[in-house]
Amino acid sequence: MDGCFVMFDVIIVGGGAAGLTAAIYTCRKALKTLVVSPEYGGQTNLTSHIENYPGFIASTGWDLMAKFKEHAEHFGAETRTSKVTNVEKKGKGFLVHFDDGSKEECRAVILCHGKLPRPLNIPGEKEFLGRGLSTCATCDAPLYKGKDVAVIGGGNAALEAVEELQHVGANVTLVHRRTEFRADEITVKKVKALKGVTFILNHSPVAIKGEKYVTAFEIEDVNTKKHQTLKLDGVFSEIGHVADSSMVKELCKLNPAGEVIVDEAGNTSCPGIFAAGDITPVRYKQTVIAAGEGAKAALECHRWLIGGKITGEYSK
Ligand code: NAP
Repeated sequence: MDGCFVMFDVIIVGGGAAGLTAAIYTCRKALKTLVVSPEYGGQTNLTSHIENYPGFIASTGWDLMAKFKEHAEHFGAETRTSKVTNVEKKGKGFLVHFDDGSKEECRAVILCHGKLPRPLNIPGEKEFLGRGLSTCATCDAPLYKGKDVAVIGGGNAALEAVEELQHVGANVTLVHRRTEFRADEITVKKVKALKGVTFILNHSPVAIKGEKYVTAFEIEDVNTKKHQTLKLDGVFSEIGHVADSSMVKELCKLNPAGEVIVDEAGNTSCPGIFAAGDITPVRYKQTVIAAGEGAKAALECHRWLIGGKITGEYSK
């Protein structure tokens, strides 16, 4: 790159399913690869029981992601436990800034930094996450057959979580802070017709309580401010996700939700920057899908680095 020494061919931002899979692919294409992430495993790590990753009938999210990391390192990926704070264009490549003030140069970047479940910001949240507090009904619902659970939220994710939990035989209470729902009408109608689902509307979450695991959920009536405590085995927080793509906001086109817009091959609006997984507008947030998207972006990145043409079209 302009005669200066470039340490890495590719820097992959994010160490979840998309990022680690992208690393396996870039390394196998002999691209010198650095994966940077504050922690490894992404949202899959928060899943106590994963049963829908092909080839693994049952695994913990943690075990599965440890295998992903081992696999990427086996093929030569270097990993660094840091947060990327900025990506800057430099010559024909990029300068990637880290939270400790250091930087690395690279020829291409693959963004796989995912999204985080929107925090409840209430007492008990940190202590009980993964111990009865879940942010993924698809992953954890089967653990709650015959148990009492609450779902928080009024969007599609919350209402679909109610359906999933009711389907596995949990006794479900939906707690929503308003009387109107954001979820699609048809979904609301379907969930209201389900047998055995209790609706507590106009109530906000106050605290998650328990000892080793969740045993209770305190909520507040938004009008009267009166508190009540529900005795429960589990709480599902389904209040949306937040994207933080501020590190590339000057370089890549983002949608209003802060997601990085990509074409069908994983190209962003900035040549040389690719993106995959939950940080893109991909509809389904699943480990297997993120892994596939990561592989795709890595192959496109390799194609771009060897001078292949970009074929994709931006849809937005
Ligand atoms: P969402 O639509 O943003 O809904 C989040 C819900 O959580 C809202 O009802 C909101 O209440 C509530 N909420 C937010 N912060 C809260 C807090 N601190 N305490 C209590 N409640 C809180 O999020 P989502 O359901 O995850 O869906 C995200 C996007 O994906 C949406 O566009 C959705 O349509 C889409 N999605 C689609 C499907 C599908 O089509 N099958 C499935 C899932 C998601 P308020 O309503 O009062 O703001």
